[in-house]
Amino acid sequence: MYRNFRIVPQIIFGRGAFNQLGDVLKPRRVTEGGFVVFILDDVFTGTELERRLPMQGRDLLVPVDVTNEPKTRLIDDLVEKIRRYAPVNPDGVIGIGGGSTMDIAKAVSLMLTNPGSSADYQGWDLIEIPAVYHVGIPTLSGTGAEISRTCILTGPKKKLGINSDYTLFDQLILDPELINGVPKEQWFYTGMDCFIHNIESLAGCMLNSFSRAYAEKSLDLCREVFFDDHPESDEKLMMASCFGGMSIAYSQVGACHALSYGISYVLGVHHGIGCCIAMNVLDDIYPQGCEEFRQMMKRHDITLPRVVGEDISPAEMERMITTTLNLEPLWENCLGSDWRDKMPRDRVEAYFRRM
Ligand code: NAD
Ligand code: ZN
Repeated sequence: MYRNFRIVPQIIFGRGAFNQLGDVLKPRRVTEGGFVVFILDDVFTGTELERRLPMQGRDLLVPVDVTNEPKTRLIDDLVEKIRRYAPVNPDGVIGIGGGSTMDIAKAVSLMLTNPGSSADYQGWDLIEIPAVYHVGIPTLSGTGAEISRTCILTGPKKKLGINSDYTLFDQLILDPELINGVPKEQWFYTGMDCFIHNIESLAGCMLNSFSRAYAEKSLDLCREVFFDDHPESDEKLMMASCFGGMSIAYSQVGACHALSYGISYVLGVHHGIGCCIAMNVLDDIYPQGCEEFRQMMKRHDITLPRVVGEDISPAEMERMITTTLNLEPLWENCLGSDWRDKMPRDRVEAYFRRM
């Protein structure tokens, strides 16, 4: 059985494309006295980008602080706030920011139509009712969140996405101008998330020609961005991110992401930097990828922090190992069906001890 793969149906790409958001929303404003919700990374509060939002009438601006990666609690609170704001659902939810903000917009649009808490839907294909129309506008590139069928949330029991066909954005606006002002380290860490998606996809057992085509192209684009400082780097990174996302959507990530989830869930390390820290200890699994990754770090003068200290408690270590080993599809993609024999708990611990 092959998966029947749904993709984002409408995409606008190009410098200044953000200006078309108003026109995109016009035919969607169908509810009399209705409104649109703009979920904006609060790094843009008071900036030109905020002023350019095509807001009108009862539209609602929701600035979000993404210092911590999105939690199910935050989603439930935002949905509650929107429900209190109006008796009807909005005509659209627009997410403008990096992976965190886009994931928040996806989750809010799903939870406005589905009952209960967002924590109830962390898993695969648990959503039954289509979401409110939602648009993604990345301001940071690499995660592939713009193109993926998941929105990753930290819940009371686990860090896991709401994976469903309804999670996918209905529309993307990819405007390379928006990723221009990202601080260098953040640009690097999130960009490496994309690089690592490709390395893991290409080295995995689930690889097929569909995934390979996207990963190879994405990897070429990453090299142009991170080695050649290409003049169209912003355009290229934006496309690399989408293609990396397309690749893993039809294959899977691997050991690096599995380990990064351990330090992310237990120690609160963010996704991009967490993947970099994990990649840095995985020479035995991804030798060439690690080598290239370190060359890119050197080229951009990046030093990774240590996150697992001597003072880590045995209980924390156990939780990190369990979180990591629970990601069965990732390990299976990386090491094959007998992955459990190849990845005992002490081997996982040894990786963590080096991070
Ligand atoms: P992010 O969204 O967490 O943002 C990181 C920082 O960059 C924040 O401080 C933010 O305010 C800032 N920022 C964003 N755009 C900026 C800009 N243009 N200029 C200046 N600062 C800017 O970072 P991310 O790496 O894009 O996303 C990580 C999140 O994405 C995690 O929550 C992770 O779980 C999620 N993720 C989702 C998927 C998916 O498929 N849904 C895939 C991978 C990761
Ligand atoms: Zn990732």
